[in-house]
Formats: sequence, structure tokens, C-alpha cells
Amino acid sequence: MTTWTYVCERCTRREPLDAPIWRCPACGGALALDGPNRLTAEMIARDDRTLWRYGAVLPVARERARSLGEGMTPLIAGTLGGKPVWFKHDALLPTGSFKDRGAAVLVAHLRRLGLTRVIVDSSGNAAAAMAGYSAAAGLECTVYAPVATSPGKLVQARAFGATVKLIEGDREAVARAAQEAAAADAGAFYASHNWHPVFVEGVKTWALEVWEQLGERAPSLAFIPTGGGSAFVGAWRGFSAVGALPRLVAAQPTACAPIVAAHERGAPMVVAPGATLAEGTRIGAPARAGQILAALNESGGWAESVSEEQLVAALRELWAQGLYVEPTCAIAAAACCAYLERTDTPPTSPPVVLLTGSGLKATDTIARLL
Ligand SMILES: [Zn+2]
Repeated sequence: MTTWTYVCERCTRREPLDAPIWRCPACGGALALDGPNRLTAEMIARDDRTLWRYGAVLPVARERARSLGEGMTPLIAGTLGGKPVWFKHDALLPTGSFKDRGAAVLVAHLRRLGLTRVIVDSSGNAAAAMAGYSAAAGLECTVYAPVATSPGKLVQARAFGATVKLIEGDREAVARAAQEAAAADAGAFYASHNWHPVFVEGVKTWALEVWEQLGERAPSLAFIPTGGGSAFVGAWRGFSAVGALPRLVAAQPTACAPIVAAHERGAPMVVAPGATLAEGTRIGAPARAGQILAALNESGGWAESVSEEQLVAALRELWAQGLYVEPTCAIAAAACCAYLERTDTPPTSPPVVLLTGSGLKATDTIARLL
């Protein structure tokens, strides 16, 4: 097996892939993975109808995984504002969000390391995905969530058998509690989707699929809902692996747009998250902000903020095309819509818009909007 190593984005320290770490042990910086991230068409395992067909560029062997059939979601021709776009429908993954890609690969990695207990801090799609894949793989999963989380958001994780611990305080307090619990337990691991680079390596398969589905070509542009940045950095890793990097657009709600601010300033920034329907992107201080900015710059992309009104309008446009998605998704569609409306030079091919999560996750919110 070819070698993958962790590289700290801040101090460039390297650690082997077998090290049970989730951030740099020297400086606390976010980790990236360095390895053989080059894919050609001949390397695809075409008889495998899951994301494991790209095993040649994944840091974990398929044999380590308990697959739920993740990957190969449809790329659907649709429109925004009357103009043609492609929708990558990742709401159709096993637990209903793109996070299944990362969870499938990260849980396989943790099994390989011999870990038996998974600790996560999330109240949304990542909790459901990690709990689902932990259940499939026979690992115990504990979800740390803020005490204010609506019980409905944790139902899916609980159905998968996860233990839920509600913590007083803000997101930082919840993360700290999860990290401390994992540090105190030798068989447990803080498997954070916002920190762990193996999670991103799983998520990058959405871009590999788009490339394959377009006839081994890059789209002109890719619009991506961006909170913690796993879908965004994953797109960069995936499209780069096949040498077909489009301009990547990080879509964020105006109420919480640290990447928009950081891109303007040229350095990571922290913002206080305001209220938004796009709850999945409500992260004021993304751990991998440095990688998000690198992806933006290398792809020649940009960060776009979207108002709540634009978000709701885009959401209705998606529903009207039979795409039942949750509000967070519509951030990317709204950003794409705004771009197509103002540009004088239409893109050479339809942009790709990533649909990240199922509307079935947000029944109460959607009922209120109708
Ligand atoms: Zn470091």
C-alpha cells in the first residue's frame, strides 16, 4: 500500500496515517493528508457501484469498510433562474446527506486502527452519518450536542443506537467536552468531521463522480454550501486528483460568512454566527479555514454570501423541480442563481450545484415555510 501522511497546515509537521490524532500534536493546527492523490480513468474499479470505486486515491482499503452502498448519486440536469445547471444529488446518500461519504471512509479508518468507540460533536447531519456508519461497523458512537438542540435533530443518531450527551454552553464548550471524553478513554476517538482529514478524503469522491459523470471532464464552476468546509476542501482534493479543477465557489449565509470575510481580507477570520435557515453552515470559526482559502485561490474561485430571502427563493425553485432538499442546501443554489443573473459572460458549460442534505431532515422548518 502506498503511503499517506498527515501534514500540519500551520507548522508542516508530518505524522504517519496510523497515528491516532485529529489535529497537529505540536501546534494544534488542522491536518491535511499527503499521499498518492492522482486518479486516471483506468484506475477506477468500474464494477464497484459505490464511492469505493475510487479506492486508488483513498487512504483506507475497501475491505475495512462496512458499506451501506454510499456514492454514485445522480447528476441531474435542471435549471436556476431559467438557466441550465447540474445538480449533484447527495441528499440521496444512505443517511440523507453528503456527510455519509466522509463517515464511511473515516469509520473504516478507525476500524483499521482498532478503535471501538467514536465520539463526535454535532447536532445535525454529521451526527446521523457517523452514528449510522458506526452502527454498520459495530462501533459505539457518542454524540455531544448543545443542550438547546431540538430533540428532533438527534432522532436519527439515536435510532442508530448512538448515546446522546447534552452539554451546557456554546459550540466550543461542546467540542471541548467531546475532546476531553475521548482523551480520557483509550479505546475512544474524537472523530470530528470538522477536523479529521480522512473525512475530507471520503467527501472528495463527490467531485470524482461529477468528473466521471460529465464524461471525464471538469464542470465550468462548482457551487458548494460551506460551513466547516469538508465539501469545499473535498471538491478541491477530488477535482485536483483528476487534474480537472473548476472555479470553486464557497456559498455562505450572510448571517455567518467567515470565508467571505476571509477571502476579502486574505487571511482566516472568525465571525459570530447569526440566525439562518442554513443551520449546517452556521460555523463562525472553521477549523480548516486555511485549506478553504487555499482551495479558493488555487481554483480561481470566490466566496459568495446569500440572504435568507435568496435562500428561500432558491429552496422553492429546487422543490419545484422535484428536488426535496433541506434549507442548508439552497445556499449553493442561491449563490449560483445570483451569479448567473449578474454575469455578462455565461459559463461555457452548466455549473454544478452540490445538494447536501435531504428535506426529510427538516420537516418542521419546511412546514413553517410552506
Ligand atoms: Zn502543527
